[in-house]
Amino acid sequence: MAVSGLDSSNNQTPVKNVVIAGGGTAGWMAATALTRLLGKSIKVTLVESKDIGIVGVGEATIPPIRTFHKLLGIDEKAFMRATQATFKLGIEFENWREQGHSYIHSFGITGRECWAGEFHHFWLRAKEYGFGGEFGDYCPELMAAKQNKFATSEAMPLNFAYHFDAVAYGRFLKSLACEAGVTHKEGDIEKVVVCPQSGNIQSLQLASGEVVNGDFFIDCTGFKGLLIEQALHTGYDDWQHYLFCDRAVAMQTELPAPPCHIPKV
Ligand SMILES: Cc1cc2nc3c(=O)[nH]c(=O)nc-3n(C[C@H](O)[C@H](O)[C@H](O)COP(=O)(O)OP(=O)(O)OC[C@H]3O[C@@H](n4cnc5c(N)ncnc54)[C@H](O)[C@@H]3O)c2cc1C
Repeated sequence: MAVSGLDSSNNQTPVKNVVIAGGGTAGWMAATALTRLLGKSIKVTLVESKDIGIVGVGEATIPPIRTFHKLLGIDEKAFMRATQATFKLGIEFENWREQGHSYIHSFGITGRECWAGEFHHFWLRAKEYGFGGEFGDYCPELMAAKQNKFATSEAMPLNFAYHFDAVAYGRFLKSLACEAGVTHKEGDIEKVVVCPQSGNIQSLQLASGEVVNGDFFIDCTGFKGLLIEQALHTGYDDWQHYLFCDRAVAMQTELPAPPCHIPKV
């Protein structure tokens, strides 16, 4: 696999030197993916500030995270141990429509479609005739979640994701990425140097005076958008007018119930 970028004259050249700005979840995911997938064909450097913290709240993931782990050959047991992960079959929205109403967004597929049509058509017709039960009754993940059950099995694969400690996940990926050859630099990025001719980023200047050169830069500086926003002014698409919620509060809580027992299959 070859990656190419633009040099100062806007010519296409092979990328040899990738610089990632930021060492939160995004930065270490990018670093691990690049080094594990492209091996020694490129040099990867990650710059992060120890004084500027990461968001790092508990990470509730969705199933594509498993595809990402599979792609990188990440061992599930090692990952779960390192990040205190739990399995999840869906996301429960309590008091969602109104007080007392709850809705589970389950990860699985509901019912089976066939050549004649998708499942919901058959379910709707069944409802007209007065049978068929709830739509969610046909989703194994939802039924398992409601009954506090979980198992991994080849015979009946459930679609699942994880909930884990984001800070621990960053640490876990950092160890994989550094093992695979990522150069890790600690320091505050003070200036993003842009080539006046091409408009491309040339280097990052750190507070220590060190200059980090690269031919491909990935902005993982979170809300700041140090490279894409502050240096390149790519523009931000504000969706505030679509969204009902404009804030989030993260806190630790007591367990509402003991974790359920997971049987070995
Ligand atoms: C309350 C809350 C709940 C959330 N829940 C979820 C969830 O359930 N599931 C989910 O997927 N996401 C969730 N998110 C979103 C997710 O946590 C964040 O999008 C993600 O952690 C951001 O990671 P990041 O690596 O992009 O940025 P950050 O964690 O902000 O990392 C930024 C990095 O850039 C570095 N940096 C910044 N400026 C400089 C500089 N000048 N010099 C050097 N380094 C610099 C910092 O040191 C840091 O390493 C939640 C967010 C919040 C606030």
